Amino acid sequence: MFVFHRLLVCSHNPGKIREIRAILSDIPMKVLTAEDFPALPEPIEDAKTFVENARIKARSAYEHTGCWALADDSGLVVPALGGEPGVDSAYYAGHHPDRAQREQANRNKLIAAIQQIPIEQRSAYFVCTLVFLWEGGEAVFEGRCEGVIIPEERGPHGFGFDPLFWIPEQGKTLAELEPTEKNQRSHRARALQAFRTWLLAWLPQQMPLA
Ligand code: IMP
Repeated sequence: MFVFHRLLVCSHNPGKIREIRAILSDIPMKVLTAEDFPALPEPIEDAKTFVENARIKARSAYEHTGCWALADDSGLVVPALGGEPGVDSAYYAGHHPDRAQREQANRNKLIAAIQQIPIEQRSAYFVCTLVFLWEGGEAVFEGRCEGVIIPEERGPHGFGFDPLFWIPEQGKTLAELEPTEKNQRSHRARALQAFRTWLLAWLPQQMPLA
């Protein structure tokens, strides 16, 4: 009997899980998530880089389950602000327990910060780093989405910093794009696409499970 390799996606976020399942849907692997392992610990992501934070999650999941593990870390980088919000994007303005209030506080802080920066230096990018870990090593993938920070919110969709992230070619913020349009061009989609391309070449070289 042929048994599929198991890939554990280290996330509880249903949106991310859906996106990852969709992009890997034709690849012969069994995709599992944190929900399949209720005792899976939540490691503290206290590293200084996106790749190290993703590696902390992937390593912890691999060590606890023995499954191949895929973890991501993402955030917004504004070079003129010294790279902030960076790896602390989720908690840029502090650790408020309510997600919506925390994200609003983050946006307010970014609006205040960007107004101190000349308009021509307000470029920014979202980055998503993926770490894939298996018994033989690790592979890292990155996707970026380039834009400009504007000092007022625009658009009803998305989350986090989307209403402040303007894409010049579209003439819209990420929050003004339809969700399907955002998902096709997002930093996460680009990182996942790079992972998928690599996986299609790598997987046939792996020992089949009997
Ligand atoms: P996570 O790695 O997906 O948990 O994202 C960390 C933080 O980065 C989020 O809480 C947001 O503040 C920010 N972020 C990441 N991706 C996006 C995005 O696509 N739109 C808006 N904000 C994002």
